Amino acid sequence: MTFELSDRVQTVPPSGIRRFFEIAEERDDVISLGVGEPDFATPWAARDAAITSLEQGKTSYTANRGKRALREAIADYVADRFDLGYGADEEIIVTAGASEAVDLAFRAFVDPGDTVAIAQPAYISYEPGVIFAGGDVLPVPTKEEDEFRLTAEALEAAGAADADVLVLCYPNNPTGAIMPAEDLEPVAAFAREHDLTVLSDEIYAELTYDGEHTSIATLPGMRERTIVFNGFSKAHAMTGLRLGYALGPADAIGAMNKIHQYTMLSAPTTAQHAALEALDSCDDDVREMVAQYDRRRQFVLSRFREIGMDVFEAKGAFYCFPEVPEGFTAEEFAEAVLREQGVAVVPGDVFGEGGAGHLRISYATGLEDLRRALDRIEAFVEEHT
Ligand code: PLP
Repeated sequence: MTFELSDRVQTVPPSGIRRFFEIAEERDDVISLGVGEPDFATPWAARDAAITSLEQGKTSYTANRGKRALREAIADYVADRFDLGYGADEEIIVTAGASEAVDLAFRAFVDPGDTVAIAQPAYISYEPGVIFAGGDVLPVPTKEEDEFRLTAEALEAAGAADADVLVLCYPNNPTGAIMPAEDLEPVAAFAREHDLTVLSDEIYAELTYDGEHTSIATLPGMRERTIVFNGFSKAHAMTGLRLGYALGPADAIGAMNKIHQYTMLSAPTTAQHAALEALDSCDDDVREMVAQYDRRRQFVLSRFREIGMDVFEAKGAFYCFPEVPEGFTAEEFAEAVLREQGVAVVPGDVFGEGGAGHLRISYATGLEDLRRALDRIEAFVEEHT
């Protein structure tokens, strides 16, 4: 007997980068610039708090929305760092990674047939998430000439005026683009004018290397229509602990909690203890990691320029997004540089419209490996161009 798969699952194609993992397995000297997770271990104090909580037998469920002390700490943190005012009682939900929060939002706010506009290139999970929720995706391509920032013109041109929901992510995965307040304002005006619900993935907010991160939810008239996602995976190097959160108006977070309480009950308890400590005492660790990412960013950007590959000035997250040299598609370049030089990078096409002809390079890798990888890319480009 074969299983009858749902149409929704069948509609979503398998991940575009699986083939690359198979090629990578054929060599044992591959340097990966492909993964989107910190190479640092979780700060020790946070790990220690997790261990202590286990020793003390704190292994039960927590409140559905997360431990109250953690929600209070999150409320203080986002107020202090990003000028975001949310109440611990009803406006914050702690989830199993930002991933769960994004999925809850799609299921809470998207009806079958609703249109979800996604600023692209975009994190690969949004589109499947919309399809699983029964919605239709409307890609809104951003352009390199706009530094991959979303513009009201791009929204207009894509037909997003008729959309129900808008998804954006700045600092951006995969481009490393950021959106300063003055660029967010026209996007916010568009959302207000066309009554869009805005889902703003700000998981890379701490990893902003030029100025301060601005959340679209802080702009006039936006708090009431925006859900902000954040979490501990990136800035606190806690990917495997699976902890994130969403911020929004009480009724919206209540709706997300309705799904969360039946499907997840509560986010991982041990991770909540680690996260509380991370917010309490790990600011210096975060600052040090961010400083190291920034050094690597500058190194990678300058090496691509030396190699003669065009690359725009990524200012956030831990990615940069160079153009492939003429004569290659991104996929051809990525496959050949992996086979011939053992460097794994991700072709930009997998991130949707606007990604073609680019590579996503993650610099969440030590400087020594980055140096060797860039030398190999240079050798590859010299040989083939
Ligand atoms: N959002 C973006 C933009 C990401 O790049 C990632 C992970 O790569 C996530 C969300 C997932 O985060 P989490 O580990 O908190 O689920």
